[in-house]
Amino acid sequence: MLKGKTALVTGSTSGIGLGIASGLAEAGLNVVLNGFGDAQQIETLRAGLAQRTGVQVTYSAADMTRPDEITRMVEEAESRFGSIDVLVNNAGIQHVSPVEAFPVEKWEQILAINLSSNFYTIRAALPGMKRRNWGRIINIASAHGLVASPFKAAYVAAKHGVVGLTKTVALEVAETGITCVAICPGYVRTPLVDNQIRDQAKAHGKPEAEVIRDIILAAQPNKRFVEIQELSDLVLFLCSPAGASVSGSALQIDGAWTAR
Ligand code: NAD
Repeated sequence: MLKGKTALVTGSTSGIGLGIASGLAEAGLNVVLNGFGDAQQIETLRAGLAQRTGVQVTYSAADMTRPDEITRMVEEAESRFGSIDVLVNNAGIQHVSPVEAFPVEKWEQILAINLSSNFYTIRAALPGMKRRNWGRIINIASAHGLVASPFKAAYVAAKHGVVGLTKTVALEVAETGITCVAICPGYVRTPLVDNQIRDQAKAHGKPEAEVIRDIILAAQPNKRFVEIQELSDLVLFLCSPAGASVSGSALQIDGAWTAR
């Protein structure tokens, strides 16, 4: 039932987004990739995914801080494939700093990429979903959409905002065949977390293995990283008929972090 549908996954040149985009392609959906990186590497990724799965895979270089580029990305995807059926808002960045020293431009950038881009993609993609009376909007929030940690003011504020936006959109589309869900992962081993491990190791003068055990996974009671595959499988569940009533939810997938 997903075969032939189209998915747009923001921030899918790396990490979680790439894993989710791959899972959707394997399930038979055409995929629009988005994100930054080396042009040659992205082309290799795009062509490889298309060849491996047999679906059509395109790439948009739209910058998630630019509303005009976001709107154009959605319009281009719709005119190429006729629809966006599954929208995964995944692009996100992190910056760690005490609030009084938090660089203003980092605050603005994180709010734009991690929160406002979700508003702009949803705003642009929803009319098409409503016309077809089917859609899945999946916003990759974070455990930090539900609880806070110090020194992550912009990230925590943005991710709480994503959960609020998700609930609002879910209510607005409740009587249609569209759902809107936030996924709230704990720590997943991706380039975004590797950077934090490196920074913390430098800041604390500790080996990376110790930083992972004592700092990064301190909040995650099961003491293991969430696997990208687990997130990809959850997205496929939400897109399946079994996911039809899961809407407005903030789904924790965090080894019991937010159960505390
Ligand atoms: P990542 O750094 O591996 O990937 C981020 C992606 O976003 C990349 O493709 C990058 O090119 C893209 N991106 C960054 N800025 C962009 C911009 N301005 N325009 C377009 N694309 C842009 O990170 P990840 O760990 O895979 O994170 C993906 C999402 O998952 C983020 O929203 C993050 O907050 C969330 N998340 C991650 C974790 C974790 O532990 N890794 C936990 C919870 C939530």
